[in-house]
Amino acid sequence: MVDSELVHAVAALGWGAPGQRSRPTALRSLGPGSPQLDFPPVRNGLDYLISVVEHLDETESEVEPRDVKYAVLHLQAAVEVLFKARLLAKHWTLVFTHPGEATRKALDEATLSSVSPDKAITRLRNIVGVQISAKEEQALRKLTETRNKLQHFGVTDNARAVEARAGEVLDFLIRFIDAELQTYLEPEDREATEVVLKALREGLGNINAYVEKRMNRIAGELREEGVERITIECLACEQVTLVVGEAPPMRPAGGGTFATCRFCASFFELDDLPITWLLHRGQNGDSYKLTCPWCHEGKLGNDVRVRSEPEPVYFCFACFRISKEIAPCHRCRRTVDVSAEDSAQLCHPCRDA
Ligand SMILES: [Zn+2]
Ligand SMILES: [Zn+2]
Ligand SMILES: [Zn+2]
Repeated sequence: MVDSELVHAVAALGWGAPGQRSRPTALRSLGPGSPQLDFPPVRNGLDYLISVVEHLDETESEVEPRDVKYAVLHLQAAVEVLFKARLLAKHWTLVFTHPGEATRKALDEATLSSVSPDKAITRLRNIVGVQISAKEEQALRKLTETRNKLQHFGVTDNARAVEARAGEVLDFLIRFIDAELQTYLEPEDREATEVVLKALREGLGNINAYVEKRMNRIAGELREEGVERITIECLACEQVTLVVGEAPPMRPAGGGTFATCRFCASFFELDDLPITWLLHRGQNGDSYKLTCPWCHEGKLGNDVRVRSEPEPVYFCFACFRISKEIAPCHRCRRTVDVSAEDSAQLCHPCRDA
């Protein structure tokens, strides 16, 4: 971000000390009629987001692990404070862990046990009616997870993977403030928020531009090397840049075969990949029953995004081959790739027999 833009944004917040709150309840009126949000919590959230952009924008300097750490901590803090502000605008009891036990005294004195980020997402969607896509929800939940890990172990996840996800959440929050919070603010606070949002959008643009530039370079390399057919969606960063059978640059002791992501440098041992894949997809590991029509091993992943394919396909983690449509063989029930076989749903041995 251009520095003057940032200074302007901070000035627009009419800044006292960061985190300053004039009133704990964050609502101007809890009486009947449309509630008006008190600005400090929103301002606080915006301030956290400015910090996120400062840490992740690579226009001036490269992003270090320490930048990622503070970006994650501040992004999560922004999520919490902004989500609570929206819940508060709907009904003040919604910011309590248990709304049934909510008291005005606890709210006014800020001694309440407040709603968890995960529950806040559910309430925003089910009670407030906020549109949160499955992908956005996943990015939000993953962010909470990363924040918790950070607090206990420091930076463990790959910085690039975290960076790409952080961009996604930032994008969501900018739209969230615009669509869900602006209408509850006083006109002058709305104006200030607009100024900050503009700066944030610019910063996000820089972050995304950097991610895109890297992605384009990697896409070109994968094409040139002819490995697009064995490049699948990475479990860590969700880019389709995980090259199956490729060892990481710093190969861990003990050997084995790996899949390595060109974008975020995460790597997975190939033996574990099918099961990791299923767990990542929220499927039970026991449900792994599909066998590959080509090598007949039970390591066929379904709905796998592969770089060479426009649609998700079946991908075999044992022989790395793709199947587009599978069905059981008419005679022996073995899996057949019906999109590739010319026969009427018969496997090779049965057809030859
Ligand atoms: Zn990755
Ligand atoms: Zn196979
Ligand atoms: Zn057969």
